[in-house]
Amino acid sequence: MSDLSLGSDRGALREKARKLDEADPLSAKRAEFVLDDDTVYLDGNSLGALPAVVPGRMADVVARQWGRLRIRSWTESGWWTAPERVGDRIAPLVGAAPGQVVAGDSTSVNVFKALVGAVRMAGEGRDEIVVDATTFPTDGYIAESAARLTGRRLVAADPAGIVDALGPRTAVALVNHVDYRSGRLHDLPGVTAAAHEAGALVVWDLCHSAGALPVGLDEHGVDLAVGCTYKYLNGGPGSPAFLYVRRDLQSRFDSPLPGWNSHRDPFGMSGRYEPADGAVRGRVGTPDILSMLALEAALEVWDGVPIEAVRDKSLALTDFFLECVAAYVRPGRVESITPARHGERGSQVALRCAGAGAVMETLIARGVVGDFRHPDVLRFGFTPLYVSFADTERAARVLAEVVAAGT
Ligand SMILES: *Cc1c(COP(=O)(O)O)cnc(C)c1O
Repeated sequence: MSDLSLGSDRGALREKARKLDEADPLSAKRAEFVLDDDTVYLDGNSLGALPAVVPGRMADVVARQWGRLRIRSWTESGWWTAPERVGDRIAPLVGAAPGQVVAGDSTSVNVFKALVGAVRMAGEGRDEIVVDATTFPTDGYIAESAARLTGRRLVAADPAGIVDALGPRTAVALVNHVDYRSGRLHDLPGVTAAAHEAGALVVWDLCHSAGALPVGLDEHGVDLAVGCTYKYLNGGPGSPAFLYVRRDLQSRFDSPLPGWNSHRDPFGMSGRYEPADGAVRGRVGTPDILSMLALEAALEVWDGVPIEAVRDKSLALTDFFLECVAAYVRPGRVESITPARHGERGSQVALRCAGAGAVMETLIARGVVGDFRHPDVLRFGFTPLYVSFADTERAARVLAEVVAAGT
């Protein structure tokens, strides 16, 4: 491609970005986040940006609720019931009716609760746990331990062929909704239906889909799900994760971590464990209130935002990024491993690239923040609440310059 045609591409793509931003119904949301004008932040799939409402809220939580009300805040400031309240705030974003989601602990811990809980519900005859072979590592480690503890066999299966691994011996399948490396979106309705057909349960890990696209937990009859809140939900570093247990399974959910917060009468201080009803049964110990309330404040940015609008913009952003990359980056320098088909794409674009680690370092130094995943993947996360089409065009343009300069 000659420099001349690249120049006209640039003009046309910048103009296209301007028009897309003008027509974007979510464009005003960016002002609700703390961001730098000179940086394109495409790492919201690792740590979401700070919602502007959070610092003021936290000042109140620390100075007044903790500092002055002290112990009274457990009741007067609603601390004790925050896990259920925050869970109900997350619920509509993942397609769940109230009373089925509880916030707390980390995703890793919730994977453990969900998997062991599912094995116990599945019953004795079912001796296999099927796990997504391409999973984010922590899920695989926890699944291996859960299998060992419960005397089940672990079966690893590629998500594309996971349906074939399900059968009369399957207790539960643990699947990532979106692959953290490639950005591939897995078939939640199809795999869930196939698991049920086989008489098994399914646990979905929503870390890379919660807040990025419609999940439809209730609609698709998902059994259990977990997810984190510091990626597309912008809850802050290490913010509490969440656990979904479908309403009609809750009475059979036998948590492997039955802490006192999940007791029917926690302040009865009984020596005998009796589980609470409902989502509360997924709680363990005293919640991490500071992080929990930062998350609660952060979730306010979702007020009035339909997740469908987020999905529409997410697909438009990733389409546009791929278009700009194809126009700007010399052929052969990068290769997208993110599916081109919308139905198979999450909210990120992953590009395989020689020297990806060094390329990402240079990109970050030039104000385009994505991340590097071993061994050769450049990851760009598109958070529709605060990433613009102009950001997207700029990211592709800088990428093309960095890749060209490095060779
Ligand atoms: C980010 C992520 C996690 C993180 O687990 P933590 O317990 O919060 O560290 C787990 N699983 C998947 C699929 C993830 O993307």
